[in-house]
Amino acid sequence: MASLLITGGAGFIGSHTLLVLLDAGHELVVLDNFANSSPIALDRVLELASLDAAGRLHRVEGDVRSAADLDRAFTAPAAPITGVVHFAGRKAVRESVENPLLYWDVNLGGTRALAEAMGRHGCDLVVFSSTATVYGEPDVFPLTESMPTPPVHPYAQTKLAAEQMLAALVQSQGWRVASLRYFNPVGAHPSGRIGEDPTGIPNNLFPYITQVAAGRLELLRVFGDDYPTRDGSGERDYIHVMDLAEAHAVTLDHLLQQQGPTQITLNLGTGEARSVLEVVQAFEQANGIPIPYEVLPRRAGDVPKLEASPESAAQVLGWRARRTLEEMCRDGWAWQHSNPNGYR
Ligand code: NAD
Ligand code: UDP
Repeated sequence: MASLLITGGAGFIGSHTLLVLLDAGHELVVLDNFANSSPIALDRVLELASLDAAGRLHRVEGDVRSAADLDRAFTAPAAPITGVVHFAGRKAVRESVENPLLYWDVNLGGTRALAEAMGRHGCDLVVFSSTATVYGEPDVFPLTESMPTPPVHPYAQTKLAAEQMLAALVQSQGWRVASLRYFNPVGAHPSGRIGEDPTGIPNNLFPYITQVAAGRLELLRVFGDDYPTRDGSGERDYIHVMDLAEAHAVTLDHLLQQQGPTQITLNLGTGEARSVLEVVQAFEQANGIPIPYEVLPRRAGDVPKLEASPESAAQVLGWRARRTLEEMCRDGWAWQHSNPNGYR
């Protein structure tokens, strides 16, 4: 079992991954400044984890851009840290267009500060949260990792730059690095105790739908029905957050077994894109709740379709997403239904 630093561990994907890593027996330090999350998520993770997990989860409140905060994390009781999962970052495309310097600062500057701290503390293994948006506006599917990456907004640009910075450390320092390009993570742990907790009106499709189901929002706005897709609405490769969480545990096991310089870049998706209207229908069927909607013009910046090839992840890790769209809808609703105000 390993001692691991999890930056951004209180967030949506981080909290689900903590649970999987605790159940696998690892000892964890979470570094989070709670800029987009609640410490209650960590309490809930411990509620769901095995009884002995509390002694294996150490919390450090701090900023991934701060050398002092990072040093506190690397010298927490779990030290020495042998690997890092780096979730901490900002993820809103529109915010990145409006405030690009924030994204270069947190997403690239934060990753650089982390890499420097890893160097100081003799740690050479990191799993990095990247994104399918690095593929820009592709028109050939499914997307494989060797396809061109012309990112079209600061969010994707900062993620690609961080991927490249870490790849350079594999070359120059012999590090072991995995960049995981997530497609559209949705759903929640089936207990409904942890889940996605956006502040304000959600930007993303799934939390918007669950809030319509809960009666908090009146109706879904479907952005565009004139895309060159099956039914004209946008298509995305939605992946259950528990599948994604398990992929991190498998990736860590893989990297920990490597002796020398290692760099892997993997798509994490199901390989099957679904349209907005298909998601609405799946949600209605899974939960027996109607989702009223209206069709609006396309949302600026949206691409028609994203769909992963999941084959590299299957080959390299022996991992495939296995949960269905129905489970994503059911588990996402279980979370929203029992936590109408998220963690607040
Ligand atoms: P999230 O916002 O729920 O989690 C990010 C966590 O990082 C939060 O707990 C936040 O408080 C923390 N954080 C932010 N800035 C920090 C800082 N400067 N110092 C310390 N902690 C900080 O997001 P998520 O959905 O869990 O995403 C996790 C990672 O995956 C992010 O890097 C995101 O860009 C990436 N990603 C997410 C998606 C998605 O659709 N959710 C898709 C692709 C990639
Ligand atoms: N979408 C929508 N209405 C919403 C939110 C999203 O029709 O209120 C559509 C969006 O145009 C895209 C898909 O749902 O085709 C997924 O959007 P989301 O914001 O969840 O993820 P993205 O892939 O844009 O990061």
